[in-house]
Amino acid sequence: MFAGQSSFSHIRNSVMNFLKTVARKIVFPAITATGLERILSTFSTRQTVILMYHGVVPEANHLLSVNHIGLETFGRHLEYIRKRFSVIPLQEAFSNFRQGIHPEKKSVVLTFDDGYENNYTYAYPLLKNAGLPATLFVTAQCLSDPEMLLWYDTLDLCCDLIDYAGLKGGIRLPGRENGESMQEITGLSGLRKMLKSLNRESKQQLLSGLIDREKAVKRISTISPDYYRLLRKSQIREMADSGLIEIGSHTMYHPNLDVLNEGELAFELSSSKKLLEDATGKKVISLAFPDGAYNEPVKQKAVTSGYENLLAADYRLATDYSDMNIQPRFSISNTTTAESGFIQIQMAFQKSGI
Ligand SMILES: [Zn+2]
Repeated sequence: MFAGQSSFSHIRNSVMNFLKTVARKIVFPAITATGLERILSTFSTRQTVILMYHGVVPEANHLLSVNHIGLETFGRHLEYIRKRFSVIPLQEAFSNFRQGIHPEKKSVVLTFDDGYENNYTYAYPLLKNAGLPATLFVTAQCLSDPEMLLWYDTLDLCCDLIDYAGLKGGIRLPGRENGESMQEITGLSGLRKMLKSLNRESKQQLLSGLIDREKAVKRISTISPDYYRLLRKSQIREMADSGLIEIGSHTMYHPNLDVLNEGELAFELSSSKKLLEDATGKKVISLAFPDGAYNEPVKQKAVTSGYENLLAADYRLATDYSDMNIQPRFSISNTTTAESGFIQIQMAFQKSGI
């Protein structure tokens, strides 16, 4: 690379960052104060969008985890959504979709993935106060082992404890005897991607070799549980009883379902459903695919396991467009300003679909 090229890319990055800051701090607030951003959804044919949140915490800390939105920003999202749209339950959106009904007023469905306790502590009071329905997709391991961390939270919260020296030259993937068994890993995102391709047993085996357990326990004890603790059974029950919150499944252990064998897939779908039904006393009919990962056999198995409403992130299969059981969702960034979030919500209506 020439020195000139390097300084050019430095200048370009500085200019881009400056423009982003101007957009976030000046342009977006000015636009959303006038309501001009509504033009983004006005001419779209889509009448309903399903939004995907994860955690809600008093103070977002994106160095720790990008999964959680700050409470103040989330509150502003809710105010904005209430003012501009109807908020409808997920079941109503699917029912409209199946019957070809297009609601007169543009509508939003609120969903939360993973089953963090902070959904109960911080999001639920706001939803209850405003009478807004929502669906929580709970990783059911919280019912069988309340102290468990989601595997990717362990990875994120202990990322500087990972023994990368042990990864040098590639690692031997557990349970793979063929040529794929050695894989080169570069950095945290490569490691995360590789872990997604493993079943639970192999993932745990590998993680326990990469992160010292004692150090991990010590580290986690210094971090607020707001960033990792999963819902308790009594909290799930209380929200389900409110009639405002639907509890859906996010599987048992949050694996990428498309990499599992038949037995593992059946277990993830059925055990989580049963545990959540026992906890809520209600049928669990909605399922969100962890990491948005699925394929045709996964969809079919979900339906034969008793799920009626399947939630993707983005559609992945050509058959999805005519499939009455699956809908895409729109993830709103946790790392930007409230006004950028308003614009993202408006833009969500521009995607094709119901
Ligand atoms: Zn998830």
